[in-house]
Amino acid sequence: PLVLGIETSCDETGIGIVRGRTLLSNTIASSMDEHARYGGVVPEVAARAHLEALQPAIERAVAEAGIRLADLDAVAVTSGPGLAGALMVGVGAAKALAVSLGKPLYAVNHLVGHIAADILTADSEPLEYPTVALLVSGGHTSLLLGRDLTTDVELLGETVDDAAGEAFDKVARILGLPYPGGPQIDRAAQGGDPTAIRFPRGLSRASDREKHRWDFSFSGLKTAVARWIEQREAAGEEIPLADVAVSFREAVVDVLVSKALDACAAHGVPRLLLGGGVIANRRLREVALERAAAQGVTVRIPPLSLCTDNGAMIAGLAAELIASGRPASTLAFGADSTLPVTE
Ligand code: ATP
Ligand code: MG
Ligand code: FE
Repeated sequence: PLVLGIETSCDETGIGIVRGRTLLSNTIASSMDEHARYGGVVPEVAARAHLEALQPAIERAVAEAGIRLADLDAVAVTSGPGLAGALMVGVGAAKALAVSLGKPLYAVNHLVGHIAADILTADSEPLEYPTVALLVSGGHTSLLLGRDLTTDVELLGETVDDAAGEAFDKVARILGLPYPGGPQIDRAAQGGDPTAIRFPRGLSRASDREKHRWDFSFSGLKTAVARWIEQREAAGEEIPLADVAVSFREAVVDVLVSKALDACAAHGVPRLLLGGGVIANRRLREVALERAAAQGVTVRIPPLSLCTDNGAMIAGLAAELIASGRPASTLAFGADSTLPVTE
């Protein structure tokens, strides 16, 4: 089926068009620059930016795909989870588009969409199931177990406070580096000693195993970095920026990869899919690949344009739902900022 997908859950206005598992176009307009001076995504600013970006993005995606809107078999949209106002703009636009074209509309889950990104990776065989998926971005840090993309995705755990990308952004701010923090910390980490400072790995203690085995926590790590710096400054010592940056990154990467691979082992799943904007981190990919290989786990990493928020993964997921015979959504659904993965 020919499907157009709309993604507006955070700061990317993503419009993607797929024919089945073939990616035809994937246009992304980001309002990231507008959020830079606030050091994080501002919901109202993001919602307004989506409103302005949607129409031109749809036109561009349609032109790049070389199709006409009338050719579409369906429209798909992220209905959650995400920022309520931002989601609402996309859901409204998708309803308007579907109704005006007389086409069926599919409301899909953003996190499951991230898993669906894999099937659009042209040069590789689609992922086999079951798989564990680790999604790390500015808005979420989630560990999922997908037994079937269209019928059975389970949320194993997620962050109980900051998302991993958010931790990079906040620690960058503490270090006096601009937003977004991930690439800045990567740059600052060059030449640093990753064993210089042992920062805490959140929710990794034996006592956390019962309630939070698959959950993440990064706010304690952020505070630990701030404390460490305060103490050196109070003592009049110089701050070894590279050591702090690389030690922080090592702590984040270690806990992400450890929990993801533990989940693979505990569920007897030999596959791990990575997604989300933090996957841009080379050290994270490197450690994941290294440790997974040692454990006999295959790692899948879609190209970055499909890892960050995009409309193609939303269209791709809807195409799978259509192929599996799933009926379209009724127009009664709304944006749901906390939509569970089972929906
Ligand atoms: P979502 O709705 O998926 O949570 P988002 O817009 O918050 O979306 P993304 O756009 O997927 O998140 O990713 C942005 C985040 O990724 C930022 O927090 C940024 O700091 C982080 N990031 C980008 N590059 C790197 C990197 N090299 N290392 C670590 N983090 C990175
Ligand atoms: Mg973003
Ligand atoms: Fe996302």
